[in-house]
Amino acid sequence: MKIAILSRNKRLYSTRRLVEACIARGHEVRVLDVVRCYMNISQEKPELHLGGELLEGFDAIIPRIGASVTFYGTAVLRQFEMMGVFPANESVAISRSRDKLRSLQLLSRVGLGMPKTGFANSPGDIEDLIKMVGGAPLVIKLLEGTQGIGVVLAETRKAAESVIEAFMGMHTNILVQEFVKEANGSDIRCFVIGNRVVAAMIRQAPEGEFRSNLHRGGSAHLVRITPKERATAVKAAKTMGLNIAGVDILRSERGPLIMEVNSSPGLEGIEHATGKDIASMIIENIEKNCKPDKTRTKGKG
Ligand code: ADP
Ligand code: MG
Repeated sequence: MKIAILSRNKRLYSTRRLVEACIARGHEVRVLDVVRCYMNISQEKPELHLGGELLEGFDAIIPRIGASVTFYGTAVLRQFEMMGVFPANESVAISRSRDKLRSLQLLSRVGLGMPKTGFANSPGDIEDLIKMVGGAPLVIKLLEGTQGIGVVLAETRKAAESVIEAFMGMHTNILVQEFVKEANGSDIRCFVIGNRVVAAMIRQAPEGEFRSNLHRGGSAHLVRITPKERATAVKAAKTMGLNIAGVDILRSERGPLIMEVNSSPGLEGIEHATGKDIASMIIENIEKNCKPDKTRTKGKG
């Protein structure tokens, strides 16, 4: 097969590992810098170009679109889908998962557990919003934050009020969430491929920090997950329409609560924590599913 990886940087661990796995399994592979791709949308036949070259002949594409280029990246991916190239994750599913509020609404529809979450627009509603999620301490999140940036723990009602007020004053969209104390600064990352959790790790925040993101200095270990956690992760990925996903779960007194579903989960942490060759599993999954024009939406989403 001829496989393209949409990534900004060839040197990133995840990109390098995917390239290695493609080669090891006998495929031709190319890393395309997503922001350097440009497209011709005016013709009957959709085209993609890069540095003067017409991009063609790809069987499959693996999107690794960074949060800062979601808009442009999903447009490029959509163009590939219109050309009939098989995407490891579809553009619509990636767009969905990048918006924390939209994701939680979708997950709540199918009855998956999540921390009590509120969303409001008017400063006049802050007091009630705080009450609604159970009062302080509570977590405030930017709708499109990532790597733990934009996630704030407000320990008192007063602190919560002023942080929410400040964000609203800047017209920044945030959600307000019950703080799941008993998680103790840890969460479970379930790596889903197809309809299976292929690896799971527990991430622990450093002392004095509640965010377990590895980018925030968290540490990761192999973990055995419960059947309920497994089923929750698979259902969450499926609900988002993601074939490959990192589903983050908090262990709470009332069972697994989904925090978020990532569409470009990193490979470094999970491969090191579990010793598994996740990159090869991703390529294997593509080999199994890749057929021309198999995108569900064909760029229509
Ligand atoms: P990001 O997209 O920036 O990773 P997350 O929503 O995943 O944002 O939050 C980052 C981290 O903060 C999580 O991995 C978790 O450790 C912690 N966290 C987030 N929400 C909660 C919550 N409601 N209760 C307890 N801890 C939380
Ligand atoms: Mg996260």
